[in-house]
Order: sequence, then structure tokens, then C-alpha cells
Amino acid sequence: MSATSLVKRIAVFGSTGSIGIQAVEVIAANPDKFSVEVLTCNSNTDILIQQSIKLNPNVVVVGDESRYAEVKDALSGTDVKIFAGEKALAEVAAMDIYDVMLAGIVGYAGLKPTLTAIEAGKAIALANKETLVVAGDIIMQVAKEKGVPVIPVDSEHSAIFQCLVGEGNNNIEKIILTASGGPFLGRKTNYLVNVKREHALQHPNWTMGAKISIDSATLMNKGLEMIEAKWLFDLQPDQIQVLIHPQSIIHSMVQFEDGSIKAQMGVPDMRLPIQYALAFPKRIKNHYPRCDFKKYSSLTFEEPDYRTFHNLTLAIEAMNRGGNLPCIMNAANEIAVYAFLRNKIGFLDMTDVIEKTMEKVSFLQKPTLEEYYESDGEARSHAADIIKL
Ligand code: NAD
Ligand code: MG
Repeated sequence: MSATSLVKRIAVFGSTGSIGIQAVEVIAANPDKFSVEVLTCNSNTDILIQQSIKLNPNVVVVGDESRYAEVKDALSGTDVKIFAGEKALAEVAAMDIYDVMLAGIVGYAGLKPTLTAIEAGKAIALANKETLVVAGDIIMQVAKEKGVPVIPVDSEHSAIFQCLVGEGNNNIEKIILTASGGPFLGRKTNYLVNVKREHALQHPNWTMGAKISIDSATLMNKGLEMIEAKWLFDLQPDQIQVLIHPQSIIHSMVQFEDGSIKAQMGVPDMRLPIQYALAFPKRIKNHYPRCDFKKYSSLTFEEPDYRTFHNLTLAIEAMNRGGNLPCIMNAANEIAVYAFLRNKIGFLDMTDVIEKTMEKVSFLQKPTLEEYYESDGEARSHAADIIKL
């Protein structure tokens, strides 16, 4: 918080995405609590310009430098400062003009700005799970050294975080990460082989960006979330259980040493975990839809189908072995998902690309940050070779 006011100054990185747009909505609805100081996008300048005109941030950054002139033109009547390029994202993340970064960039691209913000002592509201998948040990270590809170925005991790409030040092026996199962719950390989992009993008309970929608359809998203949870809550892999819960009302659960289980529930609405992360430790009154249990005749649970949704099995292997394997897996997954979204490969080919890349790139047990960057690059080029991009 700035010294002179009680308003938290927020930097929304990835403000034009699904998370970013909802974060901007939450911030704009609470002008007595939050102000928008930074907005960033990659190339979706239309939304960035609209948001800037409405909210008058201090700084905006356009990742794609070729779009700079367009934004400069559109905001010429304002005093918004405009930067462009990948480097500028990290430079702005280090600026002393905000208190909390809402890390809403998708994929590996979110890592450097988020790490820079942590190094600069900024609190993090973390949506960008890939940051922890790639380099969770380093991120959490730097956050600890800097005394920086990393508050999850991902709904499952927000649920676990909320279950842990007030528990002090009470030991966690395990966490139960719930998963909707995605659009292909109950389907088998013979069906998945023919699945197309449009179909895979239809999530039953959440509207999200394209990459996470595909990750949800393959269950890679749940694998990424297991690794995210391991780092956020300092857990051993065998303390993390995935449970399919198609109604998405229980957002996740914590089981303590005495066998007692706490769950956090609500309608699936990302504005809730976003608002919680930004306002923590306070809760803010809102008028979003409420959960009416009478509308749900049953809440159901089942084991994931690890054989059909083999990405989840690969992610568990990466989590168990650790080192640079989650980073390699993440890079291969990003390449595979974007190839699938461009109709270059089929749904099940994504798993092949990831598995082969995980076998190919050399394993390192305790990589440095530089080695994580190298592993990411190597994995991307192997994955692209396999796909013949
Ligand atoms: P999205 O694709 O809708 O938006 C991504 C944002 O990142 C956009 O603002 C885009 O401009 C920006 N961006 C993309 N590539 C970039 C690059 N190379 N450089 C700079 N900026 C770039 O994605 P989303 O669904 O909002 O997801 C964002 C993150 O939040 C992901 O890590 C996702 O896993 C996580 N998350 C999303 C949801 C959800 O409901 N959408 C839920 C939980 C977690
Ligand atoms: Mg989630």
C-alpha cells in the first residue's frame, strides 16, 4: 500500500486476458480499495486502449512492439506512459509505482516479470501457474527472502489457502485438488483421437483463455496445478490427491492430521479468488451470484482416468522427479497446445510431443535459473522438431 493512502495500487499483467479482464472489473468496482497503476497486454491492443481510457493507469506495456504506435496514438490525449517489448515488461515490474502484481500473463512469458516483481518486494496475486511449474523452487525461495506474499488466484489454490487461514502450524495430511474433468470427462481414446479445437475449447463450468481451456480438456491443467500446489504449500508429492468433481462447487479441500477435512465452496466464478487475493486478508462484499445448494441434487466425486488422460500421468512423473523436468514438460506442452490450436496436430498428439520431449532433454536435478531458461529453450526446439513446425 502507498504510504499516504489505504488504496492498494495494482499492476495487472496480462490485463486483456480472461483473468486480467475480470481483475480489472474487480478493481474498478472497488475504487476506495484499489487503483490500477499498470496494465499490460501482448497484442490485444483494443482492450488495452479501452481499459486505459476508462481507468487512466500510470503505465501501460504492449509486449508486441509492432503495436506500440497504435497504442501511443490512441492514448495521445492522456498522460498514460507507454512502453513496449518483452524487456519493458520486466522493467515496469521493477518500478516503484505499485504495491501488488496481479500475475495474469499466460505461460512461460509470465515468469520473468513475476520474478522481477518478487525481487522488487511486490506482493503477488498469482494466476500464472506456469511460473511455479517452471521454477517453483527459485520463485518461492526469493519470495521467502524478500518477505513477499504469493497469494494464489487459481481457484483450487485459493480454496486451499482459504482453508489454511487460522490453522497456524497445524500439519496438513494431504490436500484434495478437485477437477471438473473438462469437456471430455468419461470419454476414451477412440473418441479423443478425432476431437477438434472448437470442441476442446468448450469447458463445461468456466470460460477461460484458449491455452488453459485446452489444458483443462487434456487434464494437463490439473497436473500443472499439482506442481503449483507443491510449491505454494510446501508439500510432498504424495500429499497431493486429484479428485474429479464435475459440478465445480467444492474448489478444493485440505485434510489435517486429525482426519478433519475443510473445503472451500462457491459457484465457479474467477472474480471471487481474484478479489480474495487482492483484498487479503479482508473479504469484500459483492453481488455476484450465490451458490444455491437446492439446485445441485448431488455433488459427485470420482477417480481421474489416468490412462486416457495421460498428460496428468506425465505431470505426476515430472512432479515426482522434480529438477528441470516440470520446466521441460511445460515448454513442450505450450508448443503442443499452440500447434493443436492451429490445427497442426491432433488432440492425442499433444501427449506424444510432451512425452518425447521429456525423454530427450537432459535432466538436471538442481538447475540454476539460467539452466531453467536453457531447458525451456531446448524443450521448445525439440517439441517444434517433433511437430515439424
Ligand atoms: P488469456 O490467454 O485469456 O490471457 C493471457 C494474457 O497474457 C493476455 O493479456 C495476453 O495479452 C497476455 N500475454 C500472452 N502472451 C504474452 C506474452 N508473450 N508476453 C506478454 N503478455 C502475454 O489467459 P487466461 O485464461 O487469462 O490465463 C492467464 C493465466 O491465469 C494462465 O497462467 C492460466 O493458467 C491462469 N489461470 C486462468 C484461469 C481462468 O479462468 N482463465 C483460472 C486459473 C488460472
Ligand atoms: Mg484452477
